[in-house]
Amino acid sequence: MVEPVAAFSRIGEENAFAVLARAGALAAEGRDIINLGIGQPDFPTPPHIVEAAIKALRDGHHGYTEATGIKVLREAVAGDIEKRLSIAVSPGNVLIVPGGKVTMFAAILMFGEPGVDILYPDPGFPIYRSMIEFTGARPVPIPIREENGFAFSGEETLSLMTDKTRLIILNSPANPTGGVTPQHEIDTLVAGLERFPKAAILSDEIYGQMTFDGLKHQSLLDYPSIRERVILLDGWSKTYAMTGWRLGYSIWPDNLYDAARKLAVNSYSCVNAAAQWAGLAALQGPQDAVADMMAAFDKRRHIVVEGLNALPGVSCPMPKGAFYAFPNITGTGWQAKPLASALLEDAGVALIGGPDFGIWGEGYLRVSYANSAENIERALERMSGFLTRKAA
Ligand code: PLP
Repeated sequence: MVEPVAAFSRIGEENAFAVLARAGALAAEGRDIINLGIGQPDFPTPPHIVEAAIKALRDGHHGYTEATGIKVLREAVAGDIEKRLSIAVSPGNVLIVPGGKVTMFAAILMFGEPGVDILYPDPGFPIYRSMIEFTGARPVPIPIREENGFAFSGEETLSLMTDKTRLIILNSPANPTGGVTPQHEIDTLVAGLERFPKAAILSDEIYGQMTFDGLKHQSLLDYPSIRERVILLDGWSKTYAMTGWRLGYSIWPDNLYDAARKLAVNSYSCVNAAAQWAGLAALQGPQDAVADMMAAFDKRRHIVVEGLNALPGVSCPMPKGAFYAFPNITGTGWQAKPLASALLEDAGVALIGGPDFGIWGEGYLRVSYANSAENIERALERMSGFLTRKAA
């Protein structure tokens, strides 16, 4: 028998995919399953973006592109950041990648090795910890607390840093909590980072355009004192409902860019050419579909939070971004994973237990409202029936 090297015994995965597989299996048996487990918009990609990809194929864009991505797209990304966030970015620092995940893969590979620490949000996107462990670095969780509005704390993050810290991963707006970190916490963190000049920062801003109540997104790129060590992770998946296209981008500081480019050359060569032309149409075309999608998410956000707060033993703060609610279920007497599993098996509602996002996720469920208002209301009714029956 042949076996992979030891590092592969430490690599993890996303449990959400296991829940989705189980939900799919139950649906295939004829059960009516409502899916609030999924981390992707339920809207189709806007038609003008789809058309741009079809046109690119018809126009003969069938070959490799530059490993870094087509020039017009890198320029458009820089222009988009300038327009949205008033931050100057050179197209020469933009790398087009096959999905947001690829940037975390590259950044963690670049800084992770035995003997160093990497900080990451917990609860947080499970791939951060998985990849940190893969490299042999020590994963150091940054607790993301409900009492802090599910924002990371600048002070607490600094208190976890030592001269061994090589990378800090931050995510706002956040998966799985919907938390948005306010500017003062970021200011505190950035001021303290001057004491740790060897620590790079990976800022996962893939939900950066998904904030509510007029809240302005605060990018880590906006701090000149750390600009030379910030890696920005962003992409099209969530903003433009393009998860299946596998298209993302990163902004790398000058001295890291070439290492990231070489990883591209050594793995995927370049991103699917038609997807890149679609990405260009997304940035340059009308943005009403993005606004419409956010208006729909906002409506559902209120429905879901109101409904969750009406459930026995459940309380849920109003999320400020992304499309997830993160209700506290400690009052139900259940542990999170058994409750998620019982809700799927008994009530036909798929959602994810908080511990699938890290130890600090115990006592919570992740409820994605990337589903119709009608289905969300049906799911809440089922959850109410289940919890009332179990409490009786
Ligand atoms: N970062 C966060 C916080 C996410 O939630 C996700 C996807 O769920 C990603 C990155 C990965 O995005 P992509 O599908 O573009 O790889």
